[in-house]
Amino acid sequence: MAIQLAGIKGGTVDLPSEALQVFKATFKGQLLTAADAAFEETRQIWNAMIDRRPGLIARCSGTADVVQAVRFARLHGLLSSVRGGGHNIAGLAVCEGGLMIDMSLLRGVWVDPAQRVAQAQAGCTLGDVDRETQVHGLAAVLGFVSATGIAGLTVGGGFGYLTRSHGWTCDNVVSMEVVTADAQVLRVSGTENADLFWALRGGSGNFGIVTSFEYQLFPVGPEILGGAIAWRGEDAKQVLEAYRKFSASAPRELTTVAVLRNAPPAPWLPKEVHGQPIIALFVCHSGKVEDGEALLAPLRALGRPVADIVTRRPYSQMQSLLDATQPKGRRYYWKSHYLAGIDERMVELAAEHAGRIRSPHSAILLFQIQGALNERPAGYSPVGNRDATYVLNIAGSWDGQADDAVNMAWARGCFEATRSCSTGGTYVNFLTEEEGRDRIAAAYSRTDLEKLAAIKRRYDPENLFRHTKSIAG
Ligand SMILES: Cc1cc2nc3c(=O)[nH]c(=O)nc-3n(C[C@H](O)[C@H](O)[C@H](O)COP(=O)(O)OP(=O)(O)OC[C@H]3O[C@@H](n4cnc5c(N)ncnc54)[C@H](O)[C@@H]3O)c2cc1C
Repeated sequence: MAIQLAGIKGGTVDLPSEALQVFKATFKGQLLTAADAAFEETRQIWNAMIDRRPGLIARCSGTADVVQAVRFARLHGLLSSVRGGGHNIAGLAVCEGGLMIDMSLLRGVWVDPAQRVAQAQAGCTLGDVDRETQVHGLAAVLGFVSATGIAGLTVGGGFGYLTRSHGWTCDNVVSMEVVTADAQVLRVSGTENADLFWALRGGSGNFGIVTSFEYQLFPVGPEILGGAIAWRGEDAKQVLEAYRKFSASAPRELTTVAVLRNAPPAPWLPKEVHGQPIIALFVCHSGKVEDGEALLAPLRALGRPVADIVTRRPYSQMQSLLDATQPKGRRYYWKSHYLAGIDERMVELAAEHAGRIRSPHSAILLFQIQGALNERPAGYSPVGNRDATYVLNIAGSWDGQADDAVNMAWARGCFEATRSCSTGGTYVNFLTEEEGRDRIAAAYSRTDLEKLAAIKRRYDPENLFRHTKSIAG
C-alpha cells in the first residue's frame, strides 16, 4: 500500500508500497501506521496539549534499526522526529505526518559497579536507570519524576536531587553511542569525536540520535533521608523566607524543592487541606541519614506544618515521590526562569501568583540547583547557565481544552511578573511549543550558540534533525 508522509522541506512525499517493503525488510522492530492497533497509544505523549499524528512510527529494536530509519528518512526526504520518554513539554517527540523514530523499546541498563558507570539505552526512563544502579547502592544524576525519558533530559541538560553535588546530568556523561544524520554509528566521549560529545551535552536533540548513554555513578543510599513537609498557604511567605535562608546555606547533600499549589487529595495530606492552598518543601539528603536528621530539624520545627513525611526511605522511592502529580494525558503549559538566588521580591511574587492559580493541578516550583554546576568552567558543556542557583518553573496543568486560555494566561502572568528576578537564562528542556529563537538563544551563551551552530553544520548540514528546539547551522 502506498503512503504519503510529510516532507522535510514541507509538502508531502508519496511513497510507493515497494519503498515501504524495502524499509520493512531491513527493520527488525515494529512499523506502525494509523491502521495498526498500537498506533494511537504509541503516538500519544505526556502532554495532551500536543495532538500530532505521525504518518509512520518506527519502533526501533536496536542501533541497527535506528541506522535504517535515518537512511529511510534521508533517502526519501522525510520530516522525522525522535521519541525518547515522550515527556518534552513542547511535544518534540512527535511530528505531524512524518516519521517518528521511537526509541522507547530500548530499555536495557548495564551497571559496572567496580568502575561506577552504567550503560543505559536511550529509551530508558529515569526509573529504569535508578532501579538497576540502586542494586549496587549507586545512582546517576537524573531528574525528579521517574517516567521522564533519560534521552531528552540528558541531551538538554538535566537536574535533580544529586545536581548540587555533581552538576548537570550531561556533565556526568562519560560517553554515548550516536547515529548521525549520514547514518554512521559513532562513539563520542572526551577523546572520541569530542566536538559532537560536547554538543550533545546540553545542545539538545539537534546533532544525532543517541542510542545509549554511559553515566558516571555515585554512591547514594540505598536508603536516604527524604520526603516532604507541608504548611497552609497562608504561611507561604513565612515558609519561603525560611526556605530562602535555609537552602542558601544547606550542604550539597541536601536538596530542597519548594512547591506552591492547592493541595491534591493525597493520603499524606490531611483531608481538611485538600483543595486548599499549601506550600510544601520536598527534601532529599543523600549523605548520612543522621546528618540529614540534624540538618532538617529546624525546618521541620518551623511554624505549624500540616504534614511531615520526611523519613528514612529508599532513594528510588524518593525519585518517584512527585510522580502522581504529573500523570500522562493532562494538559500542561510551563514557563520558567533561572534565578541567581531567591530575594524578597521573589518570595512576594511566588506567594501572590500562587494565590491566583486557576486549576487544582497547577503549581509554582522552585528547584534548588546551586553547587557543583556553578564551579565548572563556562564552556564545559553547552547547557551552561553556570550562574543559576534555582530554577523557577511555573507549571500550568489542567484537564479540559475549555480551560486552556485561563491557565495559560496564569502561567504567562507569573512569568512576566518574575522576569526581573531571572538571570535572563532559561532551560531548553522546559521551553514550550511557541518558545522559539529568542528563548533558545537565552538557553545558551552566545559563544556556545555559535560553536553549536558550527558543529551542527559539520554533522547535520541538511538539518535532518530539525524537530527540536532548533540550533540550525
Ligand atoms: C513530568 C516531568 C518532569 C520533569 N522533570 C525534570 C527534571 O527533574 N529535571 C530535568 O532536567 N528535566 C525535567 N523534565 C524535563 C525533561 O528533561 C524534558 O521534558 C525532556 O525532553 C524529556 O525527555 P524525553 O526523552 O522524555 O523526551 P521526548 O519528548 O521523548 O524527546 C524530547 C526531545 O529530546 C530529543 N531526544 C529524545 N530522544 C533522543 C535521542 N535518543 N537522541 C537524541 N535526542 C533525543 C529530541 O530532540 C526530542 O525531540 C521533566 C519533564 C516532565 C514532563
